[in-house]
Amino acid sequence: MRPHSLTKGTNRLGERLGLLGLDRLLADDPRPWSRCRRPWTSSYVTAHGKVLPCCIAPFAHQDFQGMVLGDLKEHSLDEIWNGETYQHFRERLQGDDPHPCCRTCGVGWSL
Ligand code: SF4
Repeated sequence: MRPHSLTKGTNRLGERLGLLGLDRLLADDPRPWSRCRRPWTSSYVTAHGKVLPCCIAPFAHQDFQGMVLGDLKEHSLDEIWNGETYQHFRERLQGDDPHPCCRTCGVGWSL
C-alpha cells in the first residue's frame, strides 16, 4: 500500500470514528490550544522540583523556562498552583499568544 493510500485510508477511518486530525482542528478553530484543560486539572513535577503544566512540557524545544511555573524547593504546590505565573500561563492559553509549545501541541491528545 502506498503512503498516500494509507493516509487517505486513516483519514476516512478517523472521520468515521469522529476523530479530527490536527490540520482539521487548526482549520476549524483558530485557537485549538485553548481547548486544553491540563493547566486546570494536573501538573507535572520534575525530579528537581520544577512544576510544569503538563507531561508535554518537558519536551518543549522552545522557551523551556517559560514552561516552568514554579519550584517546589521555594514554594508550596498550593502557592505555585494559585500563583501569578500559573495564572498568567492559563490566561495565555485562553488567548491568541500561548506558549510556543502549546501552539504546536497535539491538541487532539491533550484534552
Ligand atoms: S496545550 Fe499542550 S503543551 Fe500546552 S499545556 Fe496543554 S498539553 Fe501542555
